[in-house]
Amino acid sequence: MTLDGKVALVTGGSRGIGAATAIRLAEDGADVALTYQNNAELAAGVVDKIKALGRRALAIQADSADAAAVVSAVDTAVAEFGRLDVLVNNGGVGFVGPLDQTSLEDIDRVLAVNVRGVYVATQAAARHLGDGGRVISIGSCVSDRVPGPGMSLYAVSKTALLGMTKGLARELGPRGITVNIVHPGPTDTDMNPADGPYAADQRSLTAFDRYGSPSEVAATVSFLARPESKYVTGSTVSVDGGHAA
Ligand code: NDP
Repeated sequence: MTLDGKVALVTGGSRGIGAATAIRLAEDGADVALTYQNNAELAAGVVDKIKALGRRALAIQADSADAAAVVSAVDTAVAEFGRLDVLVNNGGVGFVGPLDQTSLEDIDRVLAVNVRGVYVATQAAARHLGDGGRVISIGSCVSDRVPGPGMSLYAVSKTALLGMTKGLARELGPRGITVNIVHPGPTDTDMNPADGPYAADQRSLTAFDRYGSPSEVAATVSFLARPESKYVTGSTVSVDGGHAA
């Protein structure tokens, strides 16, 4: 167990990559708090799986677009588990739509969840993280390669995390905290099902002609969370099956 005694908070941990990550960090030894937006039942299922591993777990309803809720979620996790070592900024929304049909509301919503929510969560977490702390954000392969039209707003939101990661790596480095970003490629989840209408095109852009699984992304998050990754910061790690190659 490489994360024994550590506490992690995973945003958007009720499904998909976040759920796989929460469970993987628990398998590695961490106690895990997770947030969700709507799916209380699914979040409770993830909590049950973590508890079955002998770890403590907690699900917190918090819309990432609501800054007060995000700060409260971080503080609740710390109050419950007594510390915070790892923040995984995973919760996010997808968006596909052409430029001329993208509304101001669309822009505000996507940026509020995918960018502002990540910044606020990191700001709140940084008050509690100590030497050895970890911030790991889930970006996207669209930061390296936008495979087609209609993805500019989502790409804006995910590319913003690159600057955030590099800037915060500099800012938090002196405290022994690493800040990194993971870029998943097409990954089989509710957001991007492997049998969805755009799946064949996405699959064909990978070197393996297949989708990734949430657990493959979680494995890389797990490495970045571990003490042995302590000289990795400000970095992007792609888990994209060669999508950017
Ligand atoms: P899913 O749609 O399968 O799951 C999304 C998770 O985020 C759920 O737990 C959901 O909670 C939560 N969530 C969504 N909106 C909010 C919100 N406003 N506040 C709090 N939680 C929220 O997505 P994925 O697992 O596919 O995606 C996870 C991350 O990976 C995202 O940041 C996504 O952009 C990124 N990504 C995904 C790729 C893919 O191919 N799947 C590729 C590249 C990046 P609830 O269940 O309550 O709705």
